[in-house]
Amino acid sequence: MEHPTERHARVRVRHELRRRTLTVTAVEAITPRMRRVHLHSPELADFRSDGYDDHLKIFLPTPAGPVMRDFTPRRFDRRACTLTLDFALHEAGPAARWIAGAKVGDRLEIGGPRGSNIVPDDFDWYVLIGDETALPAIGRRVEELRASVPVYTFVAIADADERQTFSTAALWKPTWFLRGAPHDGDGADIALQRRRFRPPPGEGYVFLAGEASFMRALRAVVTDDWRHPSEWFHAAGYWQRGAPAEKAERGGR
Ligand SMILES: Cc1cc2nc3c(=O)[nH]c(=O)nc-3n(C[C@H](O)[C@H](O)[C@H](O)COP(=O)(O)OP(=O)(O)OC[C@H]3O[C@@H](n4cnc5c(N)ncnc54)[C@H](O)[C@@H]3O)c2cc1C
Repeated sequence: MEHPTERHARVRVRHELRRRTLTVTAVEAITPRMRRVHLHSPELADFRSDGYDDHLKIFLPTPAGPVMRDFTPRRFDRRACTLTLDFALHEAGPAARWIAGAKVGDRLEIGGPRGSNIVPDDFDWYVLIGDETALPAIGRRVEELRASVPVYTFVAIADADERQTFSTAALWKPTWFLRGAPHDGDGADIALQRRRFRPPPGEGYVFLAGEASFMRALRAVVTDDWRHPSEWFHAAGYWQRGAPAEKAERGGR
């Protein structure tokens, strides 16, 4: 632990790295392009995921050998030994193929999370920005935040049917960038500037994740336009257009 008593101090926790084999108990279409898979295993009795943007590896067989892909533990329940993952559907890739065919009784091997980065819930406000792949982390954070704290989300989605609702005691103010709309979606940086959003006064935390170029464009809004302090900002590339995950560059902060 680092400075556990200091206000806003982030705490990094390491977890024992474990592989677990889970069984699919249900597959649910939460929107037309987002599929939720419910998993169960007695091996989840000591599963740990303390941070909303934690990730675990899923292991998938391919003709060229097994590959790993990163996914966010959307929800879990140690007593019930259950875990939920949300998959953004897309054209190609081992994870996309797996979820397209996933059915009750299928097995899925996972590893991790290896650790958690815990952002304390003691900020005056939160801004969470992302695309579909970041929605599991964003949804988890919105649901977990304390009552009445303002949380603004800006999420790029294909169309209005992809909007999700989260049940939360926080003061959640969602904005959706619709990818088909002019200057929206892929031009999310322009859309955000046009909406003239400015973070409210006080000390806030900004989380940003999604496709690498989307992430870079929006990172510039946060650092250059808002001049948000870098220690209260985390940006991550979750995937890269045109490159499978093993070839994609990971963008840090
Ligand atoms: C920390 C972290 C957490 C993540 N959590 C989630 C999560 O909870 N849910 C989730 O859905 N994703 C999540 N992702 C993103 C996910 O790991 C990638 O989208 C991954 O590339 C999917 O693997 P694949 O085998 O389907 O495609 P790959 O084999 O990696 O890629 C094949 C092709 O598909 C493209 N592609 C990959 N992802 C997408 C996409 N979402 N939309 C359109 N095209 C795509 C690639 O550019 C490539 O051209 C997370 C990533 C990280 C780093």
